[in-house]
Amino acid sequence: MSDLHDRLQAIHERIHAAATRSGRDPGAIELLAVSKTFPVEAIRDAVDAGQLVFGENKVQELLAKAPQLPSHLQWHLIGHLQSNKVRKILPAVKYIHSIGSLDLARDVDRIAAELGLYPKVYLEVNLAAESSKHGFSPAPLRSTLEDLYTLRRLEIQGLMCIPPFDPDAAKSRPYFVQLRELRDELEKAGGAPLPLLSMGMSHDFEIAIEEGATIVRVGSAIFGDRKARSIAA
Ligand SMILES: *Cc1c(COP(=O)(O)O)cnc(C)c1O
Repeated sequence: MSDLHDRLQAIHERIHAAATRSGRDPGAIELLAVSKTFPVEAIRDAVDAGQLVFGENKVQELLAKAPQLPSHLQWHLIGHLQSNKVRKILPAVKYIHSIGSLDLARDVDRIAAELGLYPKVYLEVNLAAESSKHGFSPAPLRSTLEDLYTLRRLEIQGLMCIPPFDPDAAKSRPYFVQLRELRDELEKAGGAPLPLLSMGMSHDFEIAIEEGATIVRVGSAIFGDRKARSIAA
C-alpha cells in the first residue's frame, strides 16, 4: 500500500474522530483533496485509494489536469476566479468555492445562462479583512444577499473561508465559529438554506469539523509538502 493511501486513510480516521467527538455524523463531512502543484500521477494514486473529489486553486491547472484523469472525478475550484475565465471553468467543475464579489457572481450567472448550466457555488468570506485575500466582507455580504438571490442560475450552497494562516490551529477556531454564525444569520435574513460550510485545511480541519464544516479542503496532509517538492524539483 502506498504512503499516499496510508495518509488518506489517516485523514479519514481523523475526520471520523473529530465528527464523533462533536456529536456529528461523520458521513456528513466530505474530504476535498487539494491537488494543486501535484502531478496527475499523484492524483491517480489518490483515485486508486478511493478519493474521487479534488480541488484546484488555479483555472489553468485544473483545465490541464482534469482531461488526463477519469471523467467520473469531481472537480472543485477553490481559488480566485477572474471573470474572463468563467466560461472555460464552468463546464469543468461541480462546485466553485470562491465567489467573492457581486460582480463575479453576476458574470457567473450570465455565462451559466448562456451555457445552460446551474453552477453550485460557495460565497467566500474574507473574515479578517485581509487585503491579500479575496472574498466578501461580512457587512457587505449582509446587504448584498438580496441581489445575489436574484441571480437565478447560481445555486448558492453555503459559505467558505480561509482564516489567516497561523501554525497554531486553535487560532482558526474563532473564524470557523464566525463563519457558522454568519451562515445562520444569512439563512434567517435570506429565507433560504445555506447548508454547506467549506472550512478547514491540513493543519486545522479537525477544529473546522468541530465548528460545523461540511467539507474540508486538505492538500499537504494528503499529497505532501508543496514547498519541499518545489525545492526538490
Ligand atoms: C492550498 C489550499 C488548501 C489546502 O491547503 P493545505 O494546507 O495544503 O491543506 C485549502 N484551501 C485553499 C483555498 C487552498 O488554496
